[in-house]
Amino acid sequence: MRYSNLLGKTIRGVSSDEASKNAKLLTRAGFIRREVAGVYNFLPLGLRVLNKISNIVREEMDKTGAQELLLSALQNKQSWEKTGRWGTFDALFKIKSRFDTEYALGPTHEEVLVPLVRQFVSSYRDLPLYLYQIQVKFRDEPRAKSGILRGREFLMKDLYSFHRDEKDFDEYYDAMINAYYNVFKRCNLDAILTEASGGPFSKFSHEFQVLTENGEDEIIYCPGGDFAQNAEIAKVKEGKQCDLGHGPLKRAKTIEVGNIFPLKTRFSDAFGLTYKGKDGKQKPVIMGCYGLGVSRLMGAIVEVHSDDRGITWPKEVAPFNVHMVHIKDSATEPWAKKVYEELTSKGIEVLWDDREGVSAGEKFADADLIGIPVRLVVSAKAGVGKVEWKNRDSDKTEIISVQEAIRKLTT
Ligand code: ATP
Ligand code: MG
Repeated sequence: MRYSNLLGKTIRGVSSDEASKNAKLLTRAGFIRREVAGVYNFLPLGLRVLNKISNIVREEMDKTGAQELLLSALQNKQSWEKTGRWGTFDALFKIKSRFDTEYALGPTHEEVLVPLVRQFVSSYRDLPLYLYQIQVKFRDEPRAKSGILRGREFLMKDLYSFHRDEKDFDEYYDAMINAYYNVFKRCNLDAILTEASGGPFSKFSHEFQVLTENGEDEIIYCPGGDFAQNAEIAKVKEGKQCDLGHGPLKRAKTIEVGNIFPLKTRFSDAFGLTYKGKDGKQKPVIMGCYGLGVSRLMGAIVEVHSDDRGITWPKEVAPFNVHMVHIKDSATEPWAKKVYEELTSKGIEVLWDDREGVSAGEKFADADLIGIPVRLVVSAKAGVGKVEWKNRDSDKTEIISVQEAIRKLTT
């Protein structure tokens, strides 16, 4: 991709009016633009990151045997009345059409999926089932000052599992915890599994919390990693000695990137979702639900992975593999094109800063702000067939052949 053609350029030196670090950096670097409070447009760079995160999530969900589908955002009011949530789900957006029909604008999808699954499940042979989607959700959030960490419109992965019994549910719940850890590890985030209340869904749940000073949540946790509770519900106090001898419990600000819930028969009961067991008896289906904020995760990555010069994307979610900076003079023009073609022919994703009339210093500052992990400079100084390699998180540079750069990028 030629940077000169890209929609969304950096804003240098000017601070945006965004309050949060993630929105400030993502706006300045050309990834997002705010539409209205709590609602963002994702520009080409931003969408590439969202898609990379979504694909990591997809891979890890698929490994558990889950199937992807896409459910409706406009939802049936009667279903919300059946579960009793039309009147109690505070953040629910309600829409009235000009033909007087009312809809819920989906903040979550039990009300759509459970009646749908009921059409296909009747026997123990139809279970278990694991279904998920990656979709835009809508919630009428009271506060929206945290950039893409808290949107009124945001991208979520929501998975729902359907089981014959509690034992089968428990096993899948554990498999999901593992799948979530894999997702966060691949995004280079340490997520702490945290006990929490169930909110409008169930009695208890587990959250995945990422430590960062700008988080909206707080947890009490053991530094040894064997205990964590959301501070809102926590019975223990910070400073108390950990029972396993890991020292005093700590209190810290966090971002909730994921939340998984046992639903038991809460929604199966509401919609009469039952199955015929091996013994011939009708039984309610046991359910779980598993949410992960894809766009919030992108914001959390920026909160954690940045420095005073800009974003420092982890490799797997960076919008491109390489930021190629071309320091222009007449002699280097054909080499830059050749290097770009050689890299892209090997499947390496290259953002090529080909701009005219922009100084090397400005291009380097933009590369730091955008935050792609590897910077390659094509210049007269590096020489024909050579590039200057620099990692975003280091000041060290080295001049290597294009072939060597390709080897380093593909192994
Ligand atoms: P919070 O407590 O932060 O309001 P929640 O507990 O209401 O979130 P869940 O229903 O658990 O949210 O949604 C699943 C996941 O979706 C959350 O763990 C979070 O990562 C993400 N998420 C929830 N609300 C938002 C939002 N307004 N903007 C962005 N992501 C969100
Ligand atoms: Mg939650």
